[in-house]
Amino acid sequence: MQKRKLIIIGSGPAAHTAAIYAARANLAPLLYEGFQAGPAGGQLMTTTEVENYPGFPNGIMGPELMDNFRAQSVRFGTHILTEDVEWVDLSKRPFKIHGSNTEVLAEALIIATGATAKRLDIEGARDGEFWQKGVTACAVCDGAAPIFRGQPLFVIGGGDSAVEEATFLTKYGSKIYIVHRRDELRASKIMAERALKHPKIEVLWNCVIEKVMGDSIVRKVQIKNLQTDQVETRPAGGVFFAIGHQPNTAFLKGQLELNEVGYIRVKNGSMATSLPGVFAAGDVQDPTYRQAVTAAGTGCMAALDAEKWLNHMGIE
Ligand code: NAP
Repeated sequence: MQKRKLIIIGSGPAAHTAAIYAARANLAPLLYEGFQAGPAGGQLMTTTEVENYPGFPNGIMGPELMDNFRAQSVRFGTHILTEDVEWVDLSKRPFKIHGSNTEVLAEALIIATGATAKRLDIEGARDGEFWQKGVTACAVCDGAAPIFRGQPLFVIGGGDSAVEEATFLTKYGSKIYIVHRRDELRASKIMAERALKHPKIEVLWNCVIEKVMGDSIVRKVQIKNLQTDQVETRPAGGVFFAIGHQPNTAFLKGQLELNEVGYIRVKNGSMATSLPGVFAAGDVQDPTYRQAVTAAGTGCMAALDAEKWLNHMGIE
């Protein structure tokens, strides 16, 4: 069976940054770009213009940015396998990585499988309906798009993400409604208070969006009050899911220490996980920042940590 010094699982900014650094350190990394949890390239592949990635003063389209990342890791010698990793065996070294077509051993492993924004199965919000035509799961990525400007916008959720995204959207929308299924926010007090006192933000308590309607883009939402059963239709320019993320860690099957909501735990000040030789980078270990640039930064850290660990172990 083929054995590699370093295998990287993932294809977003964290994975490719790790690959660029590892390839330049002569670790000849093998990178698995899967597609089960979303398109290869990660969450930026479903975004339009990225305006907050440093170095692109005029912005860059998410897929183009990921093409660049990928080209740069290939340029330095990363070998890419386009297949999903189905399971890994981390019980002993070298670790066994089982892809849909291959099985490879790895002395060190970087997991950068990302997280998937949760969505709700609402009529009108599905793929092929208004998903990405006014319905999105990332206000920070998409909120500045022209279709949202000056429009009433609806954020679904009641946690920190919902209040943060609603606050962010006040820069663009005419009015921001937080649609929350309960009568109390889950968000931290300080963030909730900031949002609640913003003149543009209103919370629709005990409410759910039942239907999203429009023509080529979103124009209206149908909202139901769960206490009164009253249903009303309101004009809308956008719907933003902010109901949390699901880290893509199911394939690990309990072999690494995760936090209470499934993110890989890394040691303070490094990207080392609970298992020596296994490192994590990007959103799969980050429930807080979740930005392309922070993912890339942790990808760099994971590669440097892996290189140091391989040297320390005397693995040439
Ligand atoms: P979260 O805390 O899990 O909140 C998810 C929200 O979505 C909850 O209010 C939940 O309602 C609602 N929700 C979940 N499933 C739903 C459904 N099926 N239908 C309708 N509503 C649904 O997720 P999060 O806000 O993304 O935060 C995740 C973690 O990241 C938290 O630890 C948070 O503190 C952290 N975070 C921090 C910051 C920051 O510090 N700047 C920013 C963002 C996130 P219920 O309340 O009724 O359960």
